[in-house]
Amino acid sequence: MATVKVRPEDVISVFPVEESKIYIREETGFYQKWRRYLNILLISVFILLPFVQYGGEQAILFDVGQQTFTFFAYVLYPQDLMIFALVFILAAFALFLVTRHYGRVWCGFTCPQTIWTLGFNWVERRIEGNHNQSRQLDSQAFNVKKATIKTAKHSVWIAISMLTATAFMSYFYPAITLYQELFTFSAPALITGWTLFFAGCTYINAGWIREKMCLHICPYSRFQAAMFDKNTSLVTYDSERGESRGPRKRNAERHGKGDCVDCKLCVQVCPAGIDIREGLQYACINCGLCVDACNKVMDKFNYKPNLIGFTRAGKDSGRHVTNWLYGVAIVVIVSAMFSWAYNRSDIEASIVRDRNILYRENNAGHIENSYTLALLNKSRLTKVFELSIANSDSMTLSLTDPIIVLPGEKRMVTFSVEALIAPSKMQSEVEFAIRDKARDQTIIRPTLFFSSESLLKSKS
Ligand code: SF4
Ligand code: SF4
Repeated sequence: MATVKVRPEDVISVFPVEESKIYIREETGFYQKWRRYLNILLISVFILLPFVQYGGEQAILFDVGQQTFTFFAYVLYPQDLMIFALVFILAAFALFLVTRHYGRVWCGFTCPQTIWTLGFNWVERRIEGNHNQSRQLDSQAFNVKKATIKTAKHSVWIAISMLTATAFMSYFYPAITLYQELFTFSAPALITGWTLFFAGCTYINAGWIREKMCLHICPYSRFQAAMFDKNTSLVTYDSERGESRGPRKRNAERHGKGDCVDCKLCVQVCPAGIDIREGLQYACINCGLCVDACNKVMDKFNYKPNLIGFTRAGKDSGRHVTNWLYGVAIVVIVSAMFSWAYNRSDIEASIVRDRNILYRENNAGHIENSYTLALLNKSRLTKVFELSIANSDSMTLSLTDPIIVLPGEKRMVTFSVEALIAPSKMQSEVEFAIRDKARDQTIIRPTLFFSSESLLKSKS
């Protein structure tokens, strides 16, 4: 295949050849086969993941009410926002790296918009027939047959949308309960409402908006050209070989024509509705459907394959500064994630002084200060804590019983500290030791102990 020069400035903004509804011709070639396997795997993971159990509970769950995200042994709280930021940054860099090498393969092979659009198209082809029959049906006036076919198609689309929305909601509401409640119409109104909302979004997106989401709404399609360079693998038409295009019979003379027989199959299978022979276009999602369609034509005419193919304009030496920068960024982010996981404590503890009263004198004439201990148990186990004073033997605590904190519970305990010997300073530091009995792990929290000025004067 002759070299095709690809420069970011070559990615032109050509709008699809057909602005109205695109009737996607079904394709079954090499790339479509692999996309189908990949999509079945991804959809299965999406639906089944919420049913995975860990320690008798759902392994992955965003609990919006409790503001927690459970991920196997970890229960993350808003205080753990750092890890979410790292995950998003890592995903962004991974996407940049993949896009730089393989173009918009995310869009073409794994983006939910593409997966659901092609899934809905598959249903449409099964019920309405091929793309031409579908077009004919739409051009017909209303009749019973048309109404029956359309009702059947939209019923299946709605059923898929409901399943999609239920699967999505099961990341936010216990999966088994959700499916039971929805199927028995006993789900809370809020849950039913959100499920219907997401079902509506799926139905409108995959059934009606389709490629317009990628063309006019998704920001990624707008800036992806900035990530391309001459080593990016992009779907391109080899115009040197293909032109001048023109129809002909199989095994007939070419009469000076190129390999393109102008069958337009590459246009008919394109979910973005573009003609890749017009040059690179920002709407192209690198899905490879036109490659499959054209290769079949090339095969029938006994021409070499890949008149349309995944092409790099240059030879990738792999030694580009950008690659190294992306690689270093990814290694740094992954290291930060491991470090965060290693150092993360499953206890949040703080001690706050009673701000209303600095101190008080008890019946024995000793100074007392009051405090509130806040303990958050971020683990999935009940924890028992002991509180003590780490830096003084002359102070006693009013709280001696162990403190029991249930999984996910934030426990507030008020207690006082009594100075058995009058402190020598108006303010002295007191260190509290909070010991997790099961793990024999101790957290030290320092704060202040206030004394009485008159008591200090009388001592002096
Ligand atoms: S031009 Fe080809 S690769 Fe690009 S979106 Fe259309 S079918 Fe997919
Ligand atoms: S499928 Fe191939 S031969 Fe047919 S029009 Fe497209 S580029 Fe030309």
